[in-house]
Amino acid sequence: MKLNANRERIKDRINMLSSLSERGIGVNRPTYSDSWKRAIAYLKEIMISIGMNVKLDPFGNLIGETQETNLKRKPVAIGSHIDTVTNGGAYDGAMGIVVALECMSLLRGNSIDLERPIHVIAFAEEEGSLFGIGCLGSRYMVGNKWKKDLLNIVDRNSITLKEHLLNLGTKDEFEGQFGWAAKKYHAFIEPHIEQGPYLEKWDKTIGIVNKVVAISRTKVTFHGKANHAGTTPMNYRKDASIGMARFILKVEEKGKALEDKIVATVGEVILKPNLHNVIPGTAQTVMEIRSADDDLLSEVKQNLKDIALHIGRELDLGVEISKDLIVPSQNFDNNILEILKKVCKKEDIKYAVIQSWAGHDAKIFAPFFPSAMIMVPSKDGISHSPNEFSKIDDIALATKVLIRSLDLLNVIRAS
Ligand SMILES: [Zn+2]
Repeated sequence: MKLNANRERIKDRINMLSSLSERGIGVNRPTYSDSWKRAIAYLKEIMISIGMNVKLDPFGNLIGETQETNLKRKPVAIGSHIDTVTNGGAYDGAMGIVVALECMSLLRGNSIDLERPIHVIAFAEEEGSLFGIGCLGSRYMVGNKWKKDLLNIVDRNSITLKEHLLNLGTKDEFEGQFGWAAKKYHAFIEPHIEQGPYLEKWDKTIGIVNKVVAISRTKVTFHGKANHAGTTPMNYRKDASIGMARFILKVEEKGKALEDKIVATVGEVILKPNLHNVIPGTAQTVMEIRSADDDLLSEVKQNLKDIALHIGRELDLGVEISKDLIVPSQNFDNNILEILKKVCKKEDIKYAVIQSWAGHDAKIFAPFFPSAMIMVPSKDGISHSPNEFSKIDDIALATKVLIRSLDLLNVIRAS
């Protein structure tokens, strides 16, 4: 089977999608916006031209389905998300859809028969930029826990999901189809950009993602005493911000000591009363730790909690630890991972098995049916930025890996 990706076609499609953007720096394509609707229309057009049936599910996920009516087997799904963050780039999400479409263009262009139907999915609202919940489109598809008040959640302009769906004309079917894909698929593979530096650093072309890392978030508050910043001598103070400052340095120290195994971040600090002439009475943060190793993460988290308490004792500050949440890591399917490795070895492609340090739709699908991801290097590890860039040669290789993997998954009829 000699199927070579058409680089020009891939480039054109990525460029076209990046031009479908709201005004602003970089690519801005929030779910349900005019540019999102234009992107959906553009993808529909391609899917139809490849001979696929198209459907937009009630949430706004676009699905292109091959038309073999004689195939009773469960379909295999491929694809990624079509929405972007504010001031995003041309590759995050869009590349995965374009790679999936390129596979279909090649299979259909060469009249290759299938053993299973293939569905190309363009997920809605993966970035969470509208409602603050990541992967809402894929969550809707498999029926994740947000069902109850989902229709009433509001976006940053106070528009409810219900209103968006009324505009889309799908509100009436919304509840009935919640979780429609939970048992639908035989497997799912998501191509995506890496969004990190490792593949480039290691000089690899393809990343085979074996898991999405665990994430923990812990609210840590130091309690001191708010007082006059001028009249309170230094030795009479209980300054909550000093506890926080020491804690932040410890979090960084711990993260650096375990480089490549964990990342630890204090991304926000709320001081109260947050006035230049008042000693802060409280300093609050949410410490975030991510790791592929769930046990290591728990150990580091406990250690940092102990350190916070120790700092509190040293500085005579109260320490409150609350909202201690862990989302465990999610493994991808071993069988698909082995197939992806086999393909890379056979094709002499430089690959590395990596973790995903960010959430993706494939993570949401993984508990429901065998799922996996393939990644291509991001230049300088940059993403969520107009400077996002991946090489066309790497994207073409990802297409090759995906199509060969579909072959080994017995989706394509052996020629
Ligand atoms: Zn993405």
